[in-house]
Amino acid sequence: MQSTQLELFPYLETEESSRPPNFIPVYEPTLGRREEEYVLEAVRSGWISHAGAFVGRFEQEFADFCNVRHAISTCNGTVALHLALAALDIGPGDEVIVPALTFVASANAVTYTGATPVFADVDPVSWVIDPVDIERKLTPRTKAIMPVHLYGHPAPMHEINELARAHNLLAIEDAAEAHGAELSGQRAGTMSRIASFSFMANKIITTGEGGMVTTDDDGLNERCRHLRDHAMRPEKRYWHNEVGFNYRMTNLQAAVGVAQMQSIDRFIARKREIAALYDDYLADIRGLSLPVELPDCTNVYWMYSIVVGDEFPLTRDALIPILRERNIDSRPFFYPMDTLPPYLADAPCPISLDLSQRGLNLPSAPTLTNQQVAYICQTLRDLAQR
Ligand SMILES: *Cc1c(COP(=O)(O)O)cnc(C)c1O
Repeated sequence: MQSTQLELFPYLETEESSRPPNFIPVYEPTLGRREEEYVLEAVRSGWISHAGAFVGRFEQEFADFCNVRHAISTCNGTVALHLALAALDIGPGDEVIVPALTFVASANAVTYTGATPVFADVDPVSWVIDPVDIERKLTPRTKAIMPVHLYGHPAPMHEINELARAHNLLAIEDAAEAHGAELSGQRAGTMSRIASFSFMANKIITTGEGGMVTTDDDGLNERCRHLRDHAMRPEKRYWHNEVGFNYRMTNLQAAVGVAQMQSIDRFIARKREIAALYDDYLADIRGLSLPVELPDCTNVYWMYSIVVGDEFPLTRDALIPILRERNIDSRPFFYPMDTLPPYLADAPCPISLDLSQRGLNLPSAPTLTNQQVAYICQTLRDLAQR
């Protein structure tokens, strides 16, 4: 390793970083003895379905973490979004504005309610939904705005909530990628009427599959719990006053969740450390744009991502297999929703399209070592000089 790199990264061990390590996944869950112990406890107790002590404990601990009154667990993040929309009575005839650049579940959850997702473009720098384009996409049928804190960066909730107030709309955060992200000291999941999270294996914490709805509104909390449990009246067993869902989390999932809550602060701190390393090391490579952390924001860098520009000698698509040959896993950005067969639309979202063709998620698990980050960055630096 050259001495300049050592000056930049005094914590690096020379021999380690010059040797290609084993395959580096783009993400992996961090599961330990505590997860094992709590799952075993749940199995041994016989409480393996939705009743069981871990469910309530996980909900309380997650609510405390977000600093929100209520957290309602669900069996995955997609149905958490659906439940939140259903609790707001969004349905046929309504339009919900969703960023074009997101994971498909954001749009699908709207579709499940019978409402129509309408796509707004994103900001070229922060990659989250652009309030100016939201305003352009408003129609008399618009009922709600669903920003996504994409890759861990908070969406501009001040502007979105202002738009919502001005036009009498609801706001729902899709916080699936942003546990612990903050805007003006407020955590993701608390900046709108209702919000949702995901705990699938690659998210910031995991329960295998799992999700959570968060809200400060007592009425919405009750409504979510009612709809999640087949819409059964608690005082009248097997009496269902409307069509509900079975969207409950199991005690087995919640056991993993309670164990993960003991590490969530460390995961986030480590992810921010990893992002700072990537930032330092990649800053001077021409043709790569790096993630930002806008003023007053805390980015949790769910996926540390780069955007490959024209000045870089390789395209994003050429880069993926070359990195893979060198044992580095990566993922392209999502396709814009309005280019997918179920959602083809002619209202253009050119920034989402451009980012979608150039954006790349780099390995981002909190288990990444400093040496692995250095190796990934050195590989990109070498490729930049081809
Ligand atoms: C992961 C994710 C979801 C869905 O979560 P699942 O738990 O996989 O159903 C929803 N929205 C976004 C933005 C996501 O990244």
